[in-house]
Amino acid sequence: MNQIKENIEIINKNIKNSVKKSNIKDKCDIILLAVTKTVECDTIIKAIECGIKDIGENKPQELSRKYDIIGNNVRWHLIGSLQTNKVKSIIDKVYMIHSLDRISLCEEIQKRAKKDINCLVQVNITKEETKSGLYKEDVMNFIKCVSRNYPKIKIKGLMTMAPFTNDEDILRRTFRELKALSDTILSENIDSVSMDYLSMGMSNDYEIAIEEGANIVRIGTSIFGKRNLT
Ligand SMILES: *Cc1c(COP(=O)(O)O)cnc(C)c1O
Repeated sequence: MNQIKENIEIINKNIKNSVKKSNIKDKCDIILLAVTKTVECDTIIKAIECGIKDIGENKPQELSRKYDIIGNNVRWHLIGSLQTNKVKSIIDKVYMIHSLDRISLCEEIQKRAKKDINCLVQVNITKEETKSGLYKEDVMNFIKCVSRNYPKIKIKGLMTMAPFTNDEDILRRTFRELKALSDTILSENIDSVSMDYLSMGMSNDYEIAIEEGANIVRIGTSIFGKRNLT
């Protein structure tokens, strides 16, 4: 059996187990987002043949290049930071942008989009300087502002990256804070804002993330193996 197929089967089994353990009542399906940075198209196509339907790229140029080869029978997610001058090149290709984090980006998306664009607001829960995303306390006002002023942007939930650690308590606390924030936002019933998705959890922490309410996990290494350079 090929390695990618085996890896995906193991991950799917782990996802199922974590869903069982999770505190979440409505156990909707978990989206396994295959993160394909540094992975070439022939390998991505193998993963698609194993059932992958969602692909995540962190660089707009790479998303664009691979989309042009692989096409739109899978859903393309931009998971890395997005410069405004790159919006034009990906806006017709993405299913969802996970890194909405500032008004200037909203302006550009509103200007370039021909249809509604699904977005997640990226939150920097632990306030690490190396991470992008809004601080927790700024998210509510940001979302209200987007809802009022940028009708083509449909906010569908939140995304975060946990600290790079194996400390389960820190990871769990981070994910729990993002889930709590999404519950608070949902309770405000903001126009055209939903909290359908929580994008959190990567190769080393996706099981904990699911237990704490994630329904999109972004997984690279555990599917494709170690990257040489990113
Ligand atoms: C690279 C990356 C991932 C996947 O990381 P792995 O540890 O390889 O699973 C997830 N999310 C973002 C934003 C990434 O850049």
